[in-house]
Amino acid sequence: MGKKERFYADVMAAHPEVTGSCNIVTVRLPSGEKFHFIVDCGLFQEREHEEYNKNLMFNPLNIDFCLVTHAHVDHIGRFPLMVKKGYRKSIYATEDTRKVMFSALDDSAKVIRETARRRNEKPLYVDADVDETMRLVIGCSFGKWVHVRNNVDVAFFNNGHLFGASMILVKISYPGENDINLLFTGDYNNKNVFLDIAPLPDWVYGIPVTIIQEATYGDMNSSEIERCFVDNVVKKTKGGGIIVVPVFSLGRMQEILYLFKILQDRGKISSEIPIYVDGKLGIKYTIMCKNGEFQIKDEMKEFLPENVIFVDKSTRIDVINDKRSKIIITTSGMGSYGPAQLYIPTYITNKNALIHFTGYTAEGTLGRTLKDAPFGEVVKIGGVFYKKAADVEYTNEFSAHAKADEMIEFLKQFTHLNLVLVNHGEVDTKEAFAKRILNEVNARNVGVLGRQYFFRINPYGLVDSKATKFL
Ligand SMILES: [Zn+2]
Ligand SMILES: [Zn+2]
Repeated sequence: MGKKERFYADVMAAHPEVTGSCNIVTVRLPSGEKFHFIVDCGLFQEREHEEYNKNLMFNPLNIDFCLVTHAHVDHIGRFPLMVKKGYRKSIYATEDTRKVMFSALDDSAKVIRETARRRNEKPLYVDADVDETMRLVIGCSFGKWVHVRNNVDVAFFNNGHLFGASMILVKISYPGENDINLLFTGDYNNKNVFLDIAPLPDWVYGIPVTIIQEATYGDMNSSEIERCFVDNVVKKTKGGGIIVVPVFSLGRMQEILYLFKILQDRGKISSEIPIYVDGKLGIKYTIMCKNGEFQIKDEMKEFLPENVIFVDKSTRIDVINDKRSKIIITTSGMGSYGPAQLYIPTYITNKNALIHFTGYTAEGTLGRTLKDAPFGEVVKIGGVFYKKAADVEYTNEFSAHAKADEMIEFLKQFTHLNLVLVNHGEVDTKEAFAKRILNEVNARNVGVLGRQYFFRINPYGLVDSKATKFL
């Protein structure tokens, strides 16, 4: 066997597009020993890929260790399934990710249970699997090497995508050989109002490396983002209107609250207008954030605006009965779960209301249904028909992902880029971004990760790409 074939890592993806994130790496050492590890193991959320949730496509008993980039359910939601199928080894994450993982998985188990009941199926996993999963999670510090097994060290680096989010550098070493370095960006953002995002240490930019690069917005530049949220909201409150803002519970809810604080401070909206906050998990994270449980900037600890009222099941009716101008910040971000399911039908027929989505709305969600329905059209929500009279607006300005131009700038800083594998994006977006990298970045090779191919990488870069077996 030639030298090239003695020491390598095969990188593959179980996900074809954005959700269900799961990268599988097989390492072969010069001694002949082989082992496997996983980076993220998320739930599929696109309706067309949902069936993939049932099969892991690998035997969890063969996996040596797992790494977690961040706590979104489409990156962690199938770890309990691995555990249910017998996985009992370690799962490494940052300490801030570990802190929110239980709540995120607990909530996911609840959604899974309800969906299974509706469909008369067995749930994918249950609460006990979530508890067992959490016993395996090891919280790590940013910027320090963690020795996860013989020949493998990993380091978590800051990433603005979410509280606790990381980029993960995996160093595979063997005596007498150069290292194989794999850098997983996870979902990546270069900025976050709450977090100090330390740049990667200089030495990382100089190592020979393969980057597994996300590409959610691989076909959009930051200059194409239209900022309309503040204008829309200020206009509506001036007219005495009602504003409903569906948000994701972690990150987005806190960011929107902070934005309302700024608007109050600048006198753009009156602090007399009550700001109702609804959604159990969102409130829990907001309080954790306020209590300084995440590593947030000191000046951001007072991010709550005045006149915030936390709402629960028993007080929800008071919110609806309050006839004054008001703001309701509620989960879920796409409108299909949580108390948004009550507020949206309540206000969709009210021409004095503005329903303002603040992020991506996937096919099949309430947010998308409303987007596709023209003003005055009848929409069906939970089997009931409503005439759409409220203003419904959308913006992508709060996106937690870097845009194509920002990712290109990131990649350009590496001086020894062996290979870029474009990951985590719709098929066309990944291809467009791969071409752009080839033209603008000094990378020796560029590939697209999906379910079709896996990539064999040695210390000097790409060796080969082959069709995956699990298709
Ligand atoms: Zn994410
Ligand atoms: Zn993601």
